Amino acid sequence: MKTAIQEFMKKIELRNGHETEFLQAVYEVAESIVPFAEHNPKYKIHKILERIAEPERVLIFRVPWLNDQGEVEINRGYRVQMNSAIGPYKGGLRFHPSVNLSVLKFLAFEQVFKNSLTGLPMGGGKGGSDFDPKGKSDAEVMKFCQSFMTELYRHVGADIDVPAGDIGVGAREIGFLFGQYKRIKGEFTGVLTGKGPEWGGSLIRPEATGYGVVYFVAEMLKLRNDSLKDKRVIVSGAGNVAQYTIEKCIEMGALVVTVSDSEGYVYDPEGIDAVKLAFIMDLKNQKRGRIKTYAKHFNCTFIEGQKPWSVKCDIAFPNATQNELDEADARLLVENGCFCVAEGANMPSTPGAIHVFEQAKILYAPGKAANAGGVAVSGLEMSQNSLRYSWDREKVNIKLKQIIEQIHQVCVKYGKEESGYINYGRGANIAGFVKVADAMIAQGIV
Ligand code: NDP
Repeated sequence: MKTAIQEFMKKIELRNGHETEFLQAVYEVAESIVPFAEHNPKYKIHKILERIAEPERVLIFRVPWLNDQGEVEINRGYRVQMNSAIGPYKGGLRFHPSVNLSVLKFLAFEQVFKNSLTGLPMGGGKGGSDFDPKGKSDAEVMKFCQSFMTELYRHVGADIDVPAGDIGVGAREIGFLFGQYKRIKGEFTGVLTGKGPEWGGSLIRPEATGYGVVYFVAEMLKLRNDSLKDKRVIVSGAGNVAQYTIEKCIEMGALVVTVSDSEGYVYDPEGIDAVKLAFIMDLKNQKRGRIKTYAKHFNCTFIEGQKPWSVKCDIAFPNATQNELDEADARLLVENGCFCVAEGANMPSTPGAIHVFEQAKILYAPGKAANAGGVAVSGLEMSQNSLRYSWDREKVNIKLKQIIEQIHQVCVKYGKEESGYINYGRGANIAGFVKVADAMIAQGIV
């Protein structure tokens, strides 16, 4: 089987040789799907995985804008429209200096499977720019967003492609992007998700990814008659996903002892409580400050330039960015007694790290399943926009929980091995693939 996977990858590498993150994401899926397609030849005959690995469309554009000094700045904008077999393209926008085509193609590829897992009618896409919002004034961020949307508006729409937030794109950026779209098109439609609740946004959308990943862990633990209560938890990141992961963990009785940003991590042995979390939210979302300020304020340790993986824990949530947890980190986690890793971020674990988790037979929830809560509630935001109606928090939260439970169930269905071990990675890949693949076969060679 290894040969069949290598043969498949050779073709993908030939076309995308330099795109390391994209090749990593495709390989991770091919490891599950190539053997699956051997037993289900229709997928092989129709070359479904080859087709899913080729974007339907990639848009690259210039984004010029004026900074506060009146100087011209130029960034590059992207939208990868990966797959529309089961619905309009859907996926976030990332603004970060590390953004390039490889990163966005990996994210768009993952998004196809993730969106399919939610059970909602959404295809996969992703976009963004190498623009860095850090250190920019609100006026500069607004000018950039307006310029970005001045090109993007031609390619998106409520029934075409519906972007949302991701790293560097939160409520502020979605507001500026939406305002410009509305101004150019002269229409108020659900072209973006993550909107403010007063203007078409869904309640629980900001919380959804973080809450969802904790609900997923709760489901995994429930199968072992266990829960999050009194578990020692480490979290990386301090952004949207990290914040609401921490909030839900606290609510479920776990002790969260780390939080981080790109400068290093905070170790707080007493645990982050509601007051400390409010401090983090204000620091990161309003003041746009650095996480080391937390350590100073609450008199605990800040470890500069390091990630939190050496801290002893039961459960780890890598919630910052791709490839932030490597094989050596994974060994350290397992040696220190960690028995569950759930990815709030997209592809945070390297392939070497995933193999360590699988060999140690610990619970490992891949991002495409565990962090699908965000896009699921984005899908619910689209539904509410189409209905011209808003559901209350309780209703959205119940739907989010149901979707996560259903994703967990299909992962178990396709991922359970003879030994009883549940390979959630394989389960998520196959379950996500089948729905898209069958739709593609039904729609012919397009
Ligand atoms: P935010 O921008 O809100 O926060 C990102 C956090 O990760 C910050 O603490 C940031 O630190 C840190 N970070 C970003 N890049 C790096 C890097 N290269 N090295 C170290 N730390 C880094 O983003 P989100 O919380 O929205 O996204 C986090 C992850 O979750 C991403 O992988 C994203 O794709 C994924 N995700 C997000 C969803 C959502 O709904 N927002 C949905 C599903 C997945 P600093 O402030 O120093 O940059």
